[in-house]
Amino acid sequence: MAPDSINTSSGSIDVNGRRYKLPKQPTVVVCIDGSEPGYIESAVKARRAPWFAKILKNGTNLLADCVVPSFTNPNNLSIVTGQPPKVHGISGNYFLDPDTGKEVMMNDPKFLRVETLFPSFQRAGCRIAVVTAKDKLRGLLGKDLKLVPGKACSFSSEKSDKTTIAENGIDNVNALVGMPVPDVYSAALSEFVFAAGVKLMERDRPEIMYLSTTDYIQHKHAPGTPVANDFYSMMDGYMARLDAMSCTIVLTADHGMNAKFGKDGQPDVIYLQDLFDGWVGKDKAKVILPITDPYVVHHGALGSYAVVYCANLEQWIAKLQGVPGIEAVLTKAEAAKRFELPADRLGDLVVVSTKHKVLGTSAARHDLSGLTEPLRSHGGISEQKVPLICNRKLAAPAGSRHWRNFDAFDLAFNLVA
Ligand SMILES: [Zn+2]
Repeated sequence: MAPDSINTSSGSIDVNGRRYKLPKQPTVVVCIDGSEPGYIESAVKARRAPWFAKILKNGTNLLADCVVPSFTNPNNLSIVTGQPPKVHGISGNYFLDPDTGKEVMMNDPKFLRVETLFPSFQRAGCRIAVVTAKDKLRGLLGKDLKLVPGKACSFSSEKSDKTTIAENGIDNVNALVGMPVPDVYSAALSEFVFAAGVKLMERDRPEIMYLSTTDYIQHKHAPGTPVANDFYSMMDGYMARLDAMSCTIVLTADHGMNAKFGKDGQPDVIYLQDLFDGWVGKDKAKVILPITDPYVVHHGALGSYAVVYCANLEQWIAKLQGVPGIEAVLTKAEAAKRFELPADRLGDLVVVSTKHKVLGTSAARHDLSGLTEPLRSHGGISEQKVPLICNRKLAAPAGSRHWRNFDAFDLAFNLVA
């Protein structure tokens, strides 16, 4: 893809084949991890989210499709590049690296094939702030950003006590935010992101801020439940403060979230590796779960999307299609086309389970001891619908446009009044 070009006469900039107007006021894009439609509306209905109530009524309230696999890394990178994974290359949280044959996390910035919007806007003179809950995303989101105190920073709540000017463009974050490092499995990990966003907006007034939370709460608590409403009420307060500072705010999600358990309250799992071992012999096929990340306690690495490395595809496609709870079985080429994924980073088959089912490897390989609540998870087509909300009205009617969560910056810079 051609490098970005800044068109100063029109005040716009081209990044990854899309044109963006330079922001006239601070713009905040928020990726609410796992924010299935219904969470915000339920908090509003319970009168816990007055800012959201006002925005849903007077701003822009759309539904968008996220990227499948409906996982965190592919979608965060789509939002900040404005393109699907076939362009940016991040096809999961975890994959089998064809260059090394090793199964690795997809956190390394070397896997990102294009620049995010941030370096381009930085070269155009914008101040940039990127704050994530978990540190796993920081390297990818902050790639090629020149970290300069007061002008560009990139850090996580999780490692907020380890920030340095050299690594993050900011230090003493805990003192600035007035919060200690939160536990990695907590709502506070996300609250820290919002609190930091407010403090940074007050102090540095960045033109572009990207805030990305963690779905710890959404994995455990359905929309409208007391803990979920507490979470969105907390967020509501911080959004109101950013709004009061004249920010344009766009909120979307990396993916939705659904209940994935049976009548017995236990996870409803199709163990794919066990199935293939029975069909072709032990370890003749290899199942990879791209939901896997360093923090699996709250989902046990169980999601609704898997890839399989195997031979004799036709035979296994037919067999898999006969398994109850399988929504789609696609060859590499079919999946790459349908979901706009990088074919060189998929298995031979892509398997998607239905709304309330998840896919595992072997029963013996999943530690489900950390699941203290009935499983809620994501990854499939059933978690593709996400909110796309802005505190400004659309400048012109959207017509029948098919919105994606990675239209968030287009909406913020180009389409609202
Ligand atoms: Zn996520």
